[in-house]
Amino acid sequence: EQQSSENYDFAFKILSIGDSGVGKTSLIASFISAFSQYSAPTIGVDFKIKFLTVGGKRLKLTIWDTAGQERFRTLTSSYYRGAHGIIFAYDVTRRETFTNLSDVWAKEVELYSTNQDCVKILVGNKIDRESERAVSKEEGIELAKELGCTFIECSAKTGQNVQQCFEDLSLKIMEVPSLLEKGSIGGKGDILKPKPENPVAPPPPPVGGCCV
Ligand code: GDP
Ligand code: MG
Repeated sequence: EQQSSENYDFAFKILSIGDSGVGKTSLIASFISAFSQYSAPTIGVDFKIKFLTVGGKRLKLTIWDTAGQERFRTLTSSYYRGAHGIIFAYDVTRRETFTNLSDVWAKEVELYSTNQDCVKILVGNKIDRESERAVSKEEGIELAKELGCTFIECSAKTGQNVQQCFEDLSLKIMEVPSLLEKGSIGGKGDILKPKPENPVAPPPPPVGGCCV
């Protein structure tokens, strides 16, 4: 598949949050490595860029990962700012990572997210470790309802449902007119559009006027 830094219909910012060790970085790595990619240099938080076609649209996903700050729950508002989609990740074998999503992370998002329409997906990771499962699929579905998320279970290790996770989230974002408008090329939210002379440059720090 042709990869181009110039040719896309929409640019979306995706965040991953959840306890340390649930597999956020692995999930992103698994998704990214399924196709060709390039990584941006680390700027405190790390982000990866991936182009994909969903629903007939060419998308540029900028996927933000923490550099371990989630361990100390010190993610700042700039991490959340302008997000189109948020991945709430837990480990199906560690129950506290599941309960912390509603006890800790959903509250953080509520506090910091500048965008009310932001689309969320609840992701139960490590389903390859079925014998150690501590959270049932039904409980996942239930929490997703409470948090207003879609839901998927996956394994970053085997790659099961990883592509699906990002495609589902992207499709949901495209169903929200205000997000679509802000993710348009040259639109208010297209803060990540690379300069032609330096297509792999990291984005400028988010500015207030660009908030989604
Ligand atoms: P993060 O702290 O949320 O970014 O989690 P990491 O991606 O660093 O993963 C934490 C640990 O879980 C690492 O040892 C990974 O290899 C492991 N891991 C991540 N995803 C999976 C998975 O789907 N299945 C299994 N069995 N291990 C996983
Ligand atoms: Mg990580």
